[in-house]
Amino acid sequence: MIDLYRILPEEMDDLVIELGHPRYRAEQLLRALYHESPRKMSDLHQIPSSLRDALVTAGYTIGSENEVYRVVSEDGHTTKLLLKFDDQTLIETVLMQYSPSQDKSHPRSTVCVSTQVGCPMGCVFCATGQMGFEKNLKAEEIVSQVLHFARILRQRGEHVTNLVFMGMGEPLANYDEMIRAVRLLTHPRAFGLGQRSITISTVGVISGIDRLADEDLQVKLAISLHAPNDELRKKLVPTAGPHSVEDLIMAAKRYFKKTGRRVTFEYALIDGINDSTKVASELAHVLRGNGAHVNLIPMNPTAGGFQRPARKKVLAFQQVLRNGDVNCTVRVEKGVEISAACGQLRTDMIEKING
Ligand code: SAH
Ligand code: SF4
Repeated sequence: MIDLYRILPEEMDDLVIELGHPRYRAEQLLRALYHESPRKMSDLHQIPSSLRDALVTAGYTIGSENEVYRVVSEDGHTTKLLLKFDDQTLIETVLMQYSPSQDKSHPRSTVCVSTQVGCPMGCVFCATGQMGFEKNLKAEEIVSQVLHFARILRQRGEHVTNLVFMGMGEPLANYDEMIRAVRLLTHPRAFGLGQRSITISTVGVISGIDRLADEDLQVKLAISLHAPNDELRKKLVPTAGPHSVEDLIMAAKRYFKKTGRRVTFEYALIDGINDSTKVASELAHVLRGNGAHVNLIPMNPTAGGFQRPARKKVLAFQQVLRNGDVNCTVRVEKGVEISAACGQLRTDMIEKING
């Protein structure tokens, strides 16, 4: 079985012609796949049945995700889904909405996708890292997560405006499928999302950062740093191994030099572990002078016993960075009560299912 949601537009042209149909049918097929809501081949009403039949005979299918659980935050701004694929794989996808600014009629609607089931990197504060690694997701499984929310939003007259690779898994450890998904989601003949509306977040796979810099893509990059020195970082990211903090900062500089786009450093603030003003000064020292932007994420508590620092400690940390001339924002918390940190809902649900 081959999912049509992994076929790039150029490949779709070849496929349609191979099946004995004119090229413009590929255009119709792509439009229907990405801008209508087909769940099965027979929903493609514009496509002649002879082509639909030929696709089925050749082993093509459309999507395979099923929503098994949906939870919406009290303010209605965050929706988290547990999706199941035909092979029983369970993953999380989140939608975060922000109220429209005065000049825009639509809210900003950011979909946060997973790229792996579990994660091999094992960050100690991350629910996904603690579940171990199960498998890489295919491009079509990444695309399906976005289209699932696109369908939900379309019913409300809204659409997906932004995409972040911040769900379960390490996107740069599943490079080829992740990039194929980015190409499908940004291709003007496919989903057509703006490349600049996409952020790829990595814990620091340096070879992947360098590869990404060489792609003809305008995506944004975020590096999850979490510590200003190797000793502390290795406690939080046990697989950081060969990649030092300095290596990551150098990789970010290379990315900037090559692409002209500044990298954001993400920093999960964990109470009593990496949130002191002393650590903040060290971080300011390490990052000073390279135009870095730091996004502080007061952590969502997970089973590991790690806690979020009090608000005043978060603000004190931010102030030290600002005083050190490092640009810094604190992430607005979204959906804490619905286990919004990646991997938490799946963990909670599997515990419930297993009693
Ligand atoms: N693997 C990639 C992308 C997925 S994680 C990465 O690590 O960057 C996306 C972000 O969520 C990362 O910055 C990660 O540090 C953060 N994160 C993970 N667990 C968290 C938690 N419990 N609370 C807050 N942020 C968390
Ligand atoms: Fe993997 Fe990112 Fe979680 Fe670390 S924070 S375990 S890299 S998903």
